[in-house]
Amino acid sequence: MIMNKKRTITIVGAGLTGSLLGVLLGQRGYVVELFERRQRQSESNEDSGRSINLALSRRGIDALKLAGLMDDVRPLLIPMPGRMLHLENGRSEFSPYGQQESEVIYSVSRQELNQLLVDKAVAAPKVEVTFGLQCRSIDFENKTIQFEREQSLRQPSSGDDRSAEVSQSSDTGVSVLTNHLFDMLIGTDGAGSQVRRNLIQFTGGQSNSDFLDHDYKELEIPAGENGAFRLEKNALHIWPRGNFMLIALPNLDGSFTVTLFLPKQGSPSFQSLNSKAAVRTFFDGVFPTAAAVMPDLIKDFFDHPAGRLGTVRCRPWHAGDCGLILGDAAHAIVPFHGQGMNAAFEDCSELMRLLDAHGDDWATVNRKFSEIRKPNADAIAEMALENYKTMRLSVADPKYALKKAIGFELERRFGRRFIPRYSMVMFHAMPYAEALAQGLRQQEILDRLTQSVDSIDAVDWTWAEALVDGTSSAF
Ligand code: FAD
Repeated sequence: MIMNKKRTITIVGAGLTGSLLGVLLGQRGYVVELFERRQRQSESNEDSGRSINLALSRRGIDALKLAGLMDDVRPLLIPMPGRMLHLENGRSEFSPYGQQESEVIYSVSRQELNQLLVDKAVAAPKVEVTFGLQCRSIDFENKTIQFEREQSLRQPSSGDDRSAEVSQSSDTGVSVLTNHLFDMLIGTDGAGSQVRRNLIQFTGGQSNSDFLDHDYKELEIPAGENGAFRLEKNALHIWPRGNFMLIALPNLDGSFTVTLFLPKQGSPSFQSLNSKAAVRTFFDGVFPTAAAVMPDLIKDFFDHPAGRLGTVRCRPWHAGDCGLILGDAAHAIVPFHGQGMNAAFEDCSELMRLLDAHGDDWATVNRKFSEIRKPNADAIAEMALENYKTMRLSVADPKYALKKAIGFELERRFGRRFIPRYSMVMFHAMPYAEALAQGLRQQEILDRLTQSVDSIDAVDWTWAEALVDGTSSAF
C-alpha cells in the first residue's frame, strides 16, 4: 500500500527563518507545528541591542517571492542603491552598489518583517504556532523535545495527545516542563541554538563559534521635523575609520538605526569609552557629522548593550531522516555582507527545491541539503569576514575606487564573463561558493590591471579581455 500522508514537521524557533519556513511547508501540504520561546508581539525587550533593521537582497527576495509574500513585504522596504561614504576629511561620496536599476538592496525593520512572517504562519491553514515555549533539550533517540514555560505563560493548546506536562518548583518560581513527541524536527532557533547542541551530541559531530574581538552597539539618528530624514534616505551610510566604523540604515519613520563596530579593548574601544565625556569626545572628534544628528547619543550609548559578533561552523546539519538545522542555527555569520537573513531565506528556497525533487523522502532531502548548503555557508561566512575589512578600510582607499570602477566597466563590456563579486553575492543567485571562487580570480585580474595605472582611461582593454577569458599568458 502506498502511504500518501505527509509527515508532521516540528519547527523550533519562529524567528525570520522558522516563520518563513513554516509558511512554505504549510503551502506544500505539510502539517507544521512551530514553537517559539517568546510571547507573541513581545520582541522589544528581548531583542534590544540586536540589529533592528537589516539589508534584504536578491536571495532573500527570491524566497519571499516563492512564498508569495513579496507584495506584503514591499511596503516595509526602503531601497538603498548604494553606500554613502562619510570620509575623515568631512566629504561624503555616494558609491552605487550595482549598475542596473534593479541592483538595489533594501532596508527593512527586523521586527516588522518577523511580525509579518509570524502573522502569515499563524494564518496558514496547516500551521500551528505556539508561543512562550522554550526548547530545553531534544532526545533524538526517542524523538522527544522538552519545552519549558513559566507558569504565567499561556497554557498549551488542549487535546494535544503528543504532549505531557510536569510541574517543577524552584527558588525562582514554578516552571512547567512539557515533553513533546516529534516526527521530523527542524531547528531554526538562531545562533545559540539548543537544537544544534543536541543534534551535534546525538550525531557525534562538531561545532564551534568564533567570536571577533570587535563588538557592536546600536544607536539612533531620530527623524527630523515632520518625519524628515536627517541624512540621505536612499543609502546605507558608512563612516569608515580604519580599525572601526559606524553605519546607518534608514527606517520608514524617518529615523536611522546606527551601529558602531569597535574593538572590545584597546584605544579606542568599548572598554575605553567608559564615561560620558569619553563618548562625547570620541564621537565629536571621529564621527562629527553623525554626532551632530544624534541628540540622545550619550543616553543610547550607556542604555544599549554591546553585542558579540561571531561565526558558527558545525557539522553535520542533519540527523538521518528526523532532524535538520538551518538559518543562524546552522551557520550564523558576521553581519558585514548583510547576508545572514538572506542566506537563511535561501536555505528555505533550497529545502523547498529538494522537497519538490524528492518528495517526502527526508533522509535524502536532509543529506542533500547539508551537502549543497554547507560549502555555500562556509563561503559566505568567509566573504562576510573579509567584507568587514573592505567596509572599514578599503572603501576609503583610492585604489579600491579604481578597482570598483574597472570592475563595473569589465561587466559593461563583457557581461556575464565578469560580474563583480559584490554583485554576485547581492544581486545574483549563483552559489556563494562559486562567487567566492570567481571573486578570487577577479581580484587577481584587478590587481594586475591596476598595478601600473592610476586611472580607468589608462586601462588596456584588449589585455583586460584576455585576462577575463583566461587567455593572457601573463596570468
Ligand atoms: P533568529 O533571528 O535568531 O531567530 C531565532 C528564533 O528562535 C527567535 O525567534 C528566538 O526567540 C527563537 N528561539 C531561540 N531559542 C529558542 C528555544 N530554545 N526554543 C524556542 N524558540 C527559540 N542579515 C541580513 O541578511 N542582512 C543584514 O543586513 C543583517 N544585519 C545584521 C546586523 C547585525 C548587527 C546582526 C547581529 C545580524 C544581522 N543579520 C543580517 C543577520 C540576521 O539577523 C540573522 O541571520 C537572522 O536573524 C537569522 O534568522 P534566524 O531565524 O535563523 O535566527
